[in-house]
Formats: sequence, structure tokens, C-alpha cells
Amino acid sequence: MYDKILVRYGELSLKGKNKMTFVRTLARNIKKTCSIDEKDIVVSFDRIYIKYSKDVMDNLQYVFGISSYSGVYVCNSNITDIENTIRKLFNPNSKTFKCISRRSFKNFEMSSIEMNNHFGSFILSNNTNYKVQIKNPDDEFNIEVHKEYTYIFSTKTLGLGGLPVGTAGKVLHLISGGIDSPVAAFEMMKRGVHIEFLSFLTPPHTDQTTMDKVNQIITTLTKYQGASKLYSFNYTDLMNYIGMTSKQGYKIILMRRSFYRIASIIANENNCLGVSNGENLGQVASQTLEAMAVVQTQSTLPVYRPLLTHDKLDIIKKGILINTYNTSIIQASEACELFAPASPATKPSLKIAQYLEEELSNLFALESQGIQENITVSYFKNNS
Ligand code: ATP
Ligand code: MG
Repeated sequence: MYDKILVRYGELSLKGKNKMTFVRTLARNIKKTCSIDEKDIVVSFDRIYIKYSKDVMDNLQYVFGISSYSGVYVCNSNITDIENTIRKLFNPNSKTFKCISRRSFKNFEMSSIEMNNHFGSFILSNNTNYKVQIKNPDDEFNIEVHKEYTYIFSTKTLGLGGLPVGTAGKVLHLISGGIDSPVAAFEMMKRGVHIEFLSFLTPPHTDQTTMDKVNQIITTLTKYQGASKLYSFNYTDLMNYIGMTSKQGYKIILMRRSFYRIASIIANENNCLGVSNGENLGQVASQTLEAMAVVQTQSTLPVYRPLLTHDKLDIIKKGILINTYNTSIIQASEACELFAPASPATKPSLKIAQYLEEELSNLFALESQGIQENITVSYFKNNS
């Protein structure tokens, strides 16, 4: 099979001085996700070269920061070796081809155009089935001549794009078993954010299925960042207590304000730079601009909502693509759904929310106690 895998990282070339930090993080993430030994990976200025294996090739699709990658044959930079290597790409079932030659080694004896002509003629004279076709040929022969070696390949597989996870810092993400929050976590990771997860569970109202869903979703998402940490918060006492509020229409608002007070404490203690979620404008009563404003005052850190303006259908498509959707739609009880009042306040007022919290005089003490006693931490490692 191929000698090496050539990895390209388009967007990173825009990053000026920070570029090498990004490239080093990308190489580290590739090593982790694809289980590669130090000796099998070479990082150069604009490419990464890895010893070929099918497993590595399959796992590169989970690494953010890669624009594309190819299985490549490697030979010395002289015409005879290049010709011999080109033969390996001959495909008896193909009828048309084109050559795409490039050289970074400017002292090579032919220009790119001369190489296209020369190797094109070589292919025609050695394989009578082939005809040249510039637009949509069956096969491409890409020939990249560098000083030390020449790399020859036929196809490019598109990578995930985005930025290497970890280059933007850490954020605490509120994860439920729903459709939106897993997709939102993926979108944050795509911009280089390492995600830690926080889930509020309310047993016995939420059962083992709810927990299994969250665990399965995090296992799936962990492929994209190598390792994950989940804080599971047993929220039953708090939910029951908030349920006693004198204004039932505010229950969800009060609960979400409480989520953000707790989340920002956990985030601060664990060096997270913000809190993120799967909120989507207008989707439900608690996701109006008014409701989000009343809730967000309780976070001492910025709140990030990568799905705020996305259409539900696009979110579902993304969920299917990243393989979380099928888990999300498994029937299970969710804390918010069980708790939702018949007519929730869609335009809540901050003053009323604060007043209701004063009425629930034990609320903040119960939250502090919960942070001390009701959190279970679990760790996930990528094992793909
Ligand atoms: P999702 O599909 O993500 O559950 P949703 O449309 O059901 O979204 P809500 O239930 O209103 O929305 O929740 C909005 C966001 O609040 C979720 O995307 C998630 O980030 C967070 N959230 C909701 N419930 C929980 C929970 N039990 N634990 C942690 N975070 C939660
Ligand atoms: Mg939900």
C-alpha cells in the first residue's frame, strides 16, 4: 500500500506567528487520536507526514484542523524514480486522467508545465487505456517534487477543517441527552475549544436510560478531542425545592438560573474560560431573548451558544453526520421536560426571578451543598 499519509492544514496557514503552536497541537492531537508513535510522524512547515496505515487514515476524519489528507507514494526526486512510482497508480478500470505537477524544489530539471507534459506522455505510452481529460478525469496523478523526496498521490480526502482542539482553551458545556447540546459541543470543538461536560440528573425522575444516553453521546464526542471529563450533578433535591416556588410559570427560568450559578462555579474551579450550551433562539419558552437574558446574569463567565441561529433541520443533519442523533432520539425522561409548567413565562422579568429566589430562602445553600456532595466525575478516553 501507500508509503505515507500527507496531511494538509489549510486554515492554519492564516495564523501568522501562532502557526507553530497550532501545528504542534495538531500533531499532538493526531498522535493521540490515531495512536501514532513519535518516530512515525514528521511535522514540516506546511504539511505533516505520517507512516501509512489504514487505521490511521480512517481516524484522521476525527481530527479538527486538517483541511485534507492523502495516501502518498514517496520516491527520490529524479525522473526515473518518479516514472516507476507513477505506475503504482495505474488503474485498469479507468479511461481518463490528468497530471497535476508541482515543485517546491526550484532546481529540479523540469518546470511544472514540462512535468505535466513529460509524465502525461509517459502515462499515455505505458497504458493504452488512458486518454487525457482535464475536466473530471477518472484519475488524477498528483506529483509534488520537493528537494529530498517526491510525493505522488491520486485523491484527497477532505478533513474536518476548523482548528485543533485545545488551541482555544477549555469551556464547560451543558450537556443533556437531547439533539442540540451534542451538536453544540461539536461546534465549539471545531473552533479549537476543549470541552468539559456538565449534566444535571434528577433520579428517580431521570433513569438509567437518561444516564446511558449522556454517556454514549460523550463517548461519541470524545473521538473528536481524545479525552473528556463529565461532571454529573444530582439535581433532584434542588429541582424539588424549586418546584415549590409561588409562581409556577417561572420554574424553568429559576432552574436554569440555578444551572448557571452552579456551572460557573465548576467552570472557574477547573480553569474553563466560559460556559456553552445548545440553546437555539425561539425553540422553546426558555430560549427567547428575554429568558436568556434573565438566565445569563447568573453566570460569572461568558455564555457561548453556537447553535443560537441555526435551523432545527440543519442541527438534525449535523447530529446525524457526527453520529449523536440516533442516541439523542432514544426515549428517556429529561429533567427539563418533567419539570416544565403548563404555561411557562416566555418574557420573564429579572426582578420577579430575583424575588422568587428570595422566597426560596434555602436555594443558594442547597446549591453550595450540592457542589460539595452531589457531583460525580467520570473520565472518557478515545478508544476508536
Ligand atoms: P437539547 O437537545 O440540547 O437538550 P433542548 O432544545 O431540549 O436542547 P432545553 O432543554 O431547553 O433545550 O435546554 C437548552 C440547553 O440547556 C441544552 O442545549 C443544554 O445545553 C442545557 N441543558 C438542558 N437540560 C440540561 C441538563 N439536564 N443538564 C445539563 N444541561 C442541560
Ligand atoms: Mg433538552
